[in-house]
This record gives sequence, C-alpha cells and structure tokens, in this order.
Amino acid sequence: MEGRMNFEGQVVLITGGSKGIGKAIAWAFARKGASVIINYGHDEDPARQMESQIQQTGGKAQIQKADVTRNEEVNGMFKEILDQYQRLDVLVNNAGIVRDGHMMLMSDKDWNAVIDTNLKGTFLCCRAALRPMIGRKRGRIINLVSPSAITGRAGQTNYAASKGGVISLTKSLAREVAPWGILVNAVCPGVIQTELTEKLDQKYKQEFLSMIALKRFGRPEEVASLVLFLASEEASYITGQVICVDGGMV
Ligand code: NAD
Repeated sequence: MEGRMNFEGQVVLITGGSKGIGKAIAWAFARKGASVIINYGHDEDPARQMESQIQQTGGKAQIQKADVTRNEEVNGMFKEILDQYQRLDVLVNNAGIVRDGHMMLMSDKDWNAVIDTNLKGTFLCCRAALRPMIGRKRGRIINLVSPSAITGRAGQTNYAASKGGVISLTKSLAREVAPWGILVNAVCPGVIQTELTEKLDQKYKQEFLSMIALKRFGRPEEVASLVLFLASEEASYITGQVICVDGGMV
C-alpha cells in the first residue's frame, strides 16, 4: 500500500489550503511527494508561511491566489498551474464558509455568500480542472461536504443546501467523466477541530458530542488520510461516493 500512496511527480491543488482541514490535506500530500498548490482567497500570510515550511522540510509547495467564487480568478489560477506543470492530477475542493442563521432571519447576503463559495466555487474549480484531466485521461476530484447536507441541521439551511448541491454535483460529474478515467468523490467530515468549529459555543459542542459514537471531535489529519486514500491508486474503483469521516456521527 505504501508505494501506491506515493504522489511523487503528481500535482495537487487544494482550495483554501492554508488553514484547518485544507492545511492538513496539503501537508499530507506534500509528505507523500506531491507538488502541492495551496490556494488562498485573500489572506496571503498563512499561505506564504506554509509554503516555506513545506519547502524547508524538502517538500514541494507553491501558493496560488484565487477567490473561488470568481470565474476569472479561478481560470487565471488554473492557467498559471498548467503553464508551469502541464498537468493537474488531483483537485481538492476544500474552500468553504458558514453563515449560520434561521431562515426567517437569513439575509440574501448570507445565503449568496455560502452558495457562491461552497457550491459555485466547487463548480468553477471542477470545470477548470476537467480540460487538463480529460486531456491526460486521468484525474481525481475530491469535494468536501458536511453531515448537515445528509441529515439536515436547523440554522444551516444555506450551508446544508450548498453541500447538498455539492453531493449531487459529485454524483453526476462522476458519471459524466468516468469514461476519461476521472474519479469524483465527496468526503464528509463530522465535527473536526478547526477555527470553524472553535467558534462554536459550549452548548453546541456538547450537543455535537452527544451525537458522535466515538465521543470526541476529529482531527484534520484524520480527514486528510481519507482524502489521500481517495486520490491514490488504492481507490481506483471508487467514484461518485460520499464517504464520512465522522466518528460515527451520521
Ligand atoms: P476553515 O475556515 O478553517 O478553512 C476554510 C478555508 O477556505 C480557509 O482557508 C478560507 O480562507 C478558505 N476560503 C473561504 N472562502 C474562500 C474563497 N472564496 N476562495 C478561496 N478560499 C476560500 O474551515 P475547515 O473547518 O478547515 O473546513 C474545510 C472544509 O471542510 C469546508 O468546505 C467545510 O465546509 C468542510 N467541513 C468542515 C467541518 C469541520 O468540522 N471543520 C465539518 C464538515 C465539513
């Protein structure tokens, strides 16, 4: 298995890759020899810092600025990657936001921001990745989704709808691009310790813990392991799936 989990020579793009789960995914690929492209939207410093840390350990990393909601920025990012590497092996659509609130009080702004980032951002990046992947008749796309999309969650209609859309996109795209050897799957983390969940108040944390069979939150590295597996040769017969890494929550 070790040999088949080697990404030497492969180019891997992780959107929103400088924080939280994305950061763990980027590090995991870098440790396995990939050339890692760390996308960031606005905050350059953490991305720049991570790039040099990976390089200091002998890994290959490069940062790429692009707001995933903006078509021209996404296309610009892909053009730069392809000009430099002439290939993209793995796309991880990780960039995501939450703007929780009950629907009756939800603003158009919060609805649009979540749908634009989580769903449209995934669409724009998938679309841009397909041409180079189809050209080489190989590629892996891994989309980050959420238990909210599967079970529903009060106060998260925008987030659940966006991730539910990503699940449907994943299943349909998997069928569409299977003839070119491109595999598309979704990874569904449960409650993972990141800045996003750090902000939850104590009441919500307890409520979540009561729903998790393993009675603890997950670590970003535990999500990264599944992403690496799905990107590897070990997962050559898996496509169109939603796989949870949630300690038995869903
Ligand atoms: P995070 O907030 O720590 O990281 C999200 C990253 O996305 C950040 O780097 C952010 O800057 C980036 N981003 C946001 N909008 C962007 C844009 N327009 N363009 C480019 N980058 C943008 O979040 P996280 O907890 O690491 O979550 C990562 C993914 O996993 C998200 O898609 C999230 O919905 C999903 N997820 C997280 C959890 C969890 O418990 N943390 C659970 C289920 C699903």
